[in-house]
Amino acid sequence: MKTEGKKNYRELAEATRRFLLTNILRCGYVDEEGNLCGAKMKGMGPSGTNKHDRYRCADTKCSRVSRRADLVDKAIEIVVIKVLTDQYSAVEPEDKQWYGEESLAKLRARQQEIKESYKSGIFSLAEYLEFKDANDAQISESESDRKKFYAEQSAQNFLSGFSEDKWHEDYDMRQKRKAVATVLSAVIVHPLPKGRARSAQFDPELLEPIFKAKSTE
Ligand SMILES: [Zn+2]
Repeated sequence: MKTEGKKNYRELAEATRRFLLTNILRCGYVDEEGNLCGAKMKGMGPSGTNKHDRYRCADTKCSRVSRRADLVDKAIEIVVIKVLTDQYSAVEPEDKQWYGEESLAKLRARQQEIKESYKSGIFSLAEYLEFKDANDAQISESESDRKKFYAEQSAQNFLSGFSEDKWHEDYDMRQKRKAVATVLSAVIVHPLPKGRARSAQFDPELLEPIFKAKSTE
C-alpha cells in the first residue's frame, strides 16, 4: 500500500513536471449509449508513429482520445492568460507584517538572557536547561506560525498583478498548473469528428474549457 502510494506520487510528479494539463484534461469520448468517458488525461512522450508529446485518456478501458500536447497547451494557455489578466492584472499584492514579529523578537532576546544568566551563575544547570527548553519550544512554535503566515500571504499574492509576461517569464510549471487550476476545473477534449483524419489540422474547437465558478466576489 505504502509503496503503491509512493509510486503514484512519483508518476504524478513526473507528469506534472513536464505537462501543463495532466489531470485537468478529461476524455470527451461518448459511447453509443451516450455515456461520457470523462477520465483524466495524462501527458506522455512520443511513441511509435507519434513524434510529439501527447495527452491521452488514462482509462485503459477507453484510451480513445489523444491530442498533441504542445498545441493543446498553447490553446488553453491563451484562454487562461486572458481570464487571469482580466481578473488579476489590477490587483495589488498584500504586504502585511505578521502580528507576532514583536513577541518573537522578545523570545529571541530572552534566549540570550537565559544563556547569560547561566554563564554568570544566576541559573544552575538544571534551571538553565528548564528555561532553555521552554524558551526554545516557544520560539519554534512562533517561527512556524510566522512561516505559515508569509507562505499564505505569498500564495494569495501569486496571481496579483498578473500579466502575460509574468506567465511566460516568472512562472515555473508548478505555478502555471496552479494558475490554470484557479481558472478551470477541467477541459473536455472531444474526439475527432467521424471521418476526420488523425493528420488533419489541430482544431481548438474540440477543446471545451469548463470554468470554475468565481469564488468570493
Ligand atoms: Zn476515455
